[in-house]
Amino acid sequence: MGRRVLAPRRGRAPQRVLVAVSACVFDDLVGQERVASFLRTAVESGSTSHAYLFVGPPGSGKRSAALLLACALICGDGGCGACSACQRVRRGAHPDVRVFEPAGAASYLVEQVRDEIVPDMWLAPADGHSKVYILDRAESLGDAAANAFLKTLEEPPDPVTIVLLTDDYDAIIPTVASRCQAVRFSPVPPLRARGLLAERTGAGEDEALAALAACSGDLSRALEFLRSPARREARDHVLGVLRDLPVMDGRDILVSARDLLKEVRAPLDEMKERQVVELRERVEFMGRAAQTKDVEQRHKRELTAREREAVLEIVAVAGSWLRDVLAVSAGADGVANRDAADDVATAASCMSQASIQAGLDAVSRARRRVSYNVSPQLAVEAMLFEIQEARTCPRPWESS
Ligand SMILES: [Zn+2]
Repeated sequence: MGRRVLAPRRGRAPQRVLVAVSACVFDDLVGQERVASFLRTAVESGSTSHAYLFVGPPGSGKRSAALLLACALICGDGGCGACSACQRVRRGAHPDVRVFEPAGAASYLVEQVRDEIVPDMWLAPADGHSKVYILDRAESLGDAAANAFLKTLEEPPDPVTIVLLTDDYDAIIPTVASRCQAVRFSPVPPLRARGLLAERTGAGEDEALAALAACSGDLSRALEFLRSPARREARDHVLGVLRDLPVMDGRDILVSARDLLKEVRAPLDEMKERQVVELRERVEFMGRAAQTKDVEQRHKRELTAREREAVLEIVAVAGSWLRDVLAVSAGADGVANRDAADDVATAASCMSQASIQAGLDAVSRARRRVSYNVSPQLAVEAMLFEIQEARTCPRPWESS
């Protein structure tokens, strides 16, 4: 039994019921108060647009904002931030919130839009009354893919809100841009970002800086990072492995990769337990007729998404450490991982700029591998082996 298919929308969307956005998820949209207040007002007055275009520099929190908007639209309390719907949305694990990235090497494919994204929008919500579709890197919607999308973008089914994300407004096809309400995100100056994190979490300046580095500069994610002891521990572990790489043999590296993965997977066990309970309750409630296949598929998606995110954080930490090494080696002062400043200086003193770059290339490859669903274990192992090789490649004074 599939999900109900929605009827086409007639005329303008009926406005959503007014909801008071209580303990507000938008409070977590740190550094973007203007955007937060705009979205909050739209949700409270039931006047959200059917399609948004979030425009802003990398790390300005567009993706987090899209997820918070989804919380506000899907949660029964207008985005309380605490209920299971809100939490699932924020973990990227809610069946009615879907995030897409270009399936092609550089762009969205026509088939991806025509056969996957659009038909999915026409299915009734699995869980609630609203659905949110987030399309990252919307500048990668080329002419053909955009054409397959325009009609739906102009008039999506009633429960659907579409959010396109882009760093570059000018690269968006005009017919796409004109069908969306543009929302501008401003860059948050690093000093202000650190101040905001300190204010919200009580973190010291060094901790705030390290959190931003681990989260690729994304303020909202850095906020969650600082609130999670497990994620901070995993970050320290990655830095320890990077420090020890020159004295490790192949077996040590395999063990380290395994331990790192184990550490970032630990929170997933809790998620698995919750899933087992949910499934059991469903069967108890509905008897043998219970449809469990959809739920099981959703659970699998939740786990994969969460694991990928956690592994990408390992990769981001390695990247930030190597960028620190590059900065010190180029004579700049000021590193992001101040608690590892001594190890960074040691690495900078014995790595050429070319070998540091080779290390950074290994990090980029790892990021791609994880995004393309290569086994996380393999991706992390390969990254560590490649960084080790870069660290021991000939010094400039030895190679001539
Ligand atoms: Zn909620």
